[in-house]
Formats: sequence, structure tokens, C-alpha cells
Amino acid sequence: MSSIQITDLLKSYDTRNLTIATVCSHSSLQIFNGAKKEGFQTLGIAVGGVKKYYDAFPLGKPDEFFIVDNYKDINKYTDELLEKNVIIIPHGSFVEYLGPKNFLKMRLPTFGNRQVLMWESDRVMERKWLEGAGITMPKEIKDPHNIDKPVIVKYHGAKGGRGFFVAKTFQEFNRRVQKNKSFVIQEFVMGTRYYLHYFYSPIQNTGYQLRDGSLQLLSMDRRDETTIDEVQRLGSIAELEELGIHPTFVVTGNIPIVMRESLLPKVFTMGEAVVEKSLELFGGVIGSFCLETVVTEDLEFKVFEISARIVAGTNPYIAGSPYSELIQHDLSTGRRIAQELKFAIKHKKLEKILS
Ligand code: AMP
Repeated sequence: MSSIQITDLLKSYDTRNLTIATVCSHSSLQIFNGAKKEGFQTLGIAVGGVKKYYDAFPLGKPDEFFIVDNYKDINKYTDELLEKNVIIIPHGSFVEYLGPKNFLKMRLPTFGNRQVLMWESDRVMERKWLEGAGITMPKEIKDPHNIDKPVIVKYHGAKGGRGFFVAKTFQEFNRRVQKNKSFVIQEFVMGTRYYLHYFYSPIQNTGYQLRDGSLQLLSMDRRDETTIDEVQRLGSIAELEELGIHPTFVVTGNIPIVMRESLLPKVFTMGEAVVEKSLELFGGVIGSFCLETVVTEDLEFKVFEISARIVAGTNPYIAGSPYSELIQHDLSTGRRIAQELKFAIKHKKLEKILS
């Protein structure tokens, strides 16, 4: 939504009494926990009925549930949600469950800049953004006949790495590819993976400052992916492939991690460049975003993906991370989002961080 529409919607809001709302999945326990710590009301949107597992986690349970028949129908409930003064905090599953079109159409104040969706979900635009910012990405192989080292084949729209596969030769690629689906072929970058969790504030100027606003590194994780991360327990990948068993890349969890301190300056240079370029291209990636990287043996970063909202990799840090502890005690990404809203309310800048 444009900032004029947001200003209009917010006119009917009691900004002293906002409710932080999200879909009950992904990082919702963290989002509700962070919101509660900052004194907000919380609302969990769920399909079918109240989610019982929240009873097991009282500090992450929303104050109220809002039950819908189907996430895709969310726009049917706009008026009811507006009456509750909700601010939507989107996460990866939120956008997936609603569908990108419904998400973009949603007439509810939403944290972050929704314009970012087209830049991150289209691989050509994502590359234009990241390479335009001077980031190194894995090479793309346009013609599979040119495969002369390991590549990863990624299907468009595949969720959580599902169906991705590794090939080392054209023959192997040809044997395994599902030709009815569209895909990209990327160089498989050898190295160690780090998923970097940033927070960009266009309205606060403390800490690591950018031309406009400031950037934080709140945490980092490594994804746990089945079966690739454990497959070697059965034998070498080559051995298994001979038996027709191929490793897969389905995310099942997240592992906390830190990196050698000498790499941190690069982490900030990359984050800064990505934000500056986003400001130039589409008004900025606001709030949380994550660069998914591989660090090579030459200590170079290659970024294979960006997620432009809170990622599930922040979940190990509900009580703070080794990095966020150096900013403020007990600071999760969920809590940081709530703080940003509080700051914006106080300084009458809500429309700068909502869309
Ligand atoms: P993605 O859906 O792009 O996040 O990729 C899913 C997983 O595949 C990642 O979490 C990595 O483990 C792996 N991966 C993706 N791209 C590359 C790459 N270019 N080189 C090595 N591993 C990759």
C-alpha cells in the first residue's frame, strides 16, 4: 500500500493500543514473546481452531486467537482486524500461506516494505538488486551442456529447498531434471554456510549508521537440511548415489552459530550495500532481512539468496544472541520489531516502517 493509504488507515487507529498480529507458525512464538516484552497486545491468526501447542509456551502464546477458514481468505476479515488496531508482522510462512497476491492486496498496516516481495521472489530481479549492490552471487549456468563442476538445480517457487538437487555433469543433470518445471542452475559453492540476520531501521540513527538510518546484526544461524546434512552417516554421497539415493535440501531446523570476528566488517559492508541499493530501487528493505551466504576457503562471501523479513533462523535467539547481547540484553528479532514500532509511535513515524 502507498504511504497515503497507510496514513489513512492509521487515522482510525488508536496508536496507544496497537495489537501485533501474525499467522501462528514459523517465528510466531518469538514475535509474540517479543511483542509482550514491549507491552503490546498480541493476536494469533490460525486456521481451523486454537492451536493447543501454544498452551505449552505461555510466554509465546498470543493474548487472543483469530480463527479463519483459510489463510487465502484473509482479506475477507479486513474490517474485523482493522477494528482490533492490528499491525501485521509478516514472516516467510505468512506470505506463503496467503499467497503473494493476497499479501500484496492486504489492506492492513504491515511491518516492512511490501514492494520488496517482487525483488526477492523473482530470481532475475534479486540478482539485479544484489549484484547491483556489489554482492558476489554464485554463477548461473545458462546452458546445462556447460556443467563442468558441481551445480545445484533449483526449481522456481520450491519451498524450503524441496526438490533441489546437485549434479556434477550434464548427463547427471539430464537424468534427474524434471523438464516440466522451470529451474535455475547455479554453481554449487563449496564452503561453510552462514545465514546472517540483519535489522535495518530507517528511523533510528544509533550504532552502525547508514546514509539514512542504521543497521544491526542481530544473529546468525545455519540451517539444518535433510537429508544432505546427515547423509554421510550412511556412506559417501557417491556410494549412495550409485544406489539411487540422492541428498535433498529440505529445512527441518536451525542451528545457532557465530563466525570469526575478522569477517564481521564484510558482513556489515554487505548489509549496508544491500540496504543502500534497496533504497535506490524500491524504497528500502525495512526491518529484518537475511543474507544466505557461503564463505569459501578464501574467506569470500557468496550470497545465494535474500529473505526480506524475519527468518526462522532467528528462533534460537528468543533470549538474545551473542551479537544482540552486545546491543541490549535479551533482544530477539521479534522484540526488536516491537521496539521499532514503539519508537515509531513515539516519534510519529509509523508510516515510514509500514506498508
Ligand atoms: P535456497 O532455497 O536458495 O535457500 O537453497 C536451499 C539450500 O540449498 C540452502 O540452504 C543451501 O544449503 C543450499 N544451497 C543453495 N544455493 C547454493 C549454492 N549456490 N551453493 C551451495 N549450496 C547452496
